[in-house]
Amino acid sequence: MPDKIYLSVVIPVYNEEDNIAELSSRLTKVCQGLGKGYEILYVDDGSKDGTLEAIKNAKQSDQNIYALSLAKNSGKSWAYAAGFNAARGDIIVTMDGDLQDRPEQIPDFLEKIEQGYDLVTGWKYTGKGKRSMSSKLFNRLVRALTKLEINDTNCPFKAYRADIVSTREENKKVGLWIYGNLYRFIPAMAFWKGYRVTEIPVENDPRRFGQTKYGSTRFVGGFLDLMTIVFITQYIKRPLYFFAKIGLFLMACGFLLDLAIALYGWLIEGRVGHFALLILGLISIVIGVQFLFTGLLAEMIVRLHQEQRRDIPIFKKY
Ligand code: UDP
Ligand code: MG
Repeated sequence: MPDKIYLSVVIPVYNEEDNIAELSSRLTKVCQGLGKGYEILYVDDGSKDGTLEAIKNAKQSDQNIYALSLAKNSGKSWAYAAGFNAARGDIIVTMDGDLQDRPEQIPDFLEKIEQGYDLVTGWKYTGKGKRSMSSKLFNRLVRALTKLEINDTNCPFKAYRADIVSTREENKKVGLWIYGNLYRFIPAMAFWKGYRVTEIPVENDPRRFGQTKYGSTRFVGGFLDLMTIVFITQYIKRPLYFFAKIGLFLMACGFLLDLAIALYGWLIEGRVGHFALLILGLISIVIGVQFLFTGLLAEMIVRLHQEQRRDIPIFKKY
């Protein structure tokens, strides 16, 4: 095997002991077929079963397998952050550790990266009507809000040029910084930074061993994360625009309402009444002012931060 590492496969695993052996042998086969240096990084996200032992066992048949063991269960984003920090390859591929993604499709992803894409994301295309309505609606909403034309933002099977997701200090300015549950929106964040993003269809096998770690509550979380992502991709450098839009709208509504009541009172009824509506208008004005000032405060925070970082756009010189 060549010394230089071309591919790092990063796989977050939480209680996946029964999946490791098969996944590892399939991965090894695929990676060796590439004829280039590779490493397989399992991020053991504080598993409580024999996952870590299973990875150590797998390492006996392939020295390119590593386990990064997190001190406690920290969720997928942090698991990725660890993996992206340790990865040494030029290309990083992420996939789940539950055998739902097929290692044999990794070369398809690599081909797209070789064609010049910065990020390739899988599209769990399992035939018409198979994906749930909620998932389709969610993806449609994501498309509308992020302007990124992909069908499946959630698919864990992805490939990246390593520096764009690296969490290393030297990549601070180009990398995406992923925390919380934002891994779901890595394509949107990359696209917003100006990276070339594309999508390829992938198979999605049913889970055979172990249990899914996410329940139906994830959709609520999904919407909150979507709000976060819209905010940070579109308004992080100009938060005032976000807050002021709401603030000015509320102020205008309140002002017009109160003006109408005042004029109606003076000109038609002879005295100003409709106090409930009048108060509603006032409250609207007050809340609007609050929004405006929150926006200004946010601008000051961004300014302080930018003075430290001095961000510049990403560009290439030819
Ligand atoms: N996972 C993880 N940490 C967690 C939850 C899940 O590393 O806190 C891993 C899990 O082991 C699997 C992947 O994330 O490799 C996806 O989880 P799962 O298959 O349960 O999600 P689903 O496919 O049902 O969306
Ligand atoms: Mg799964």
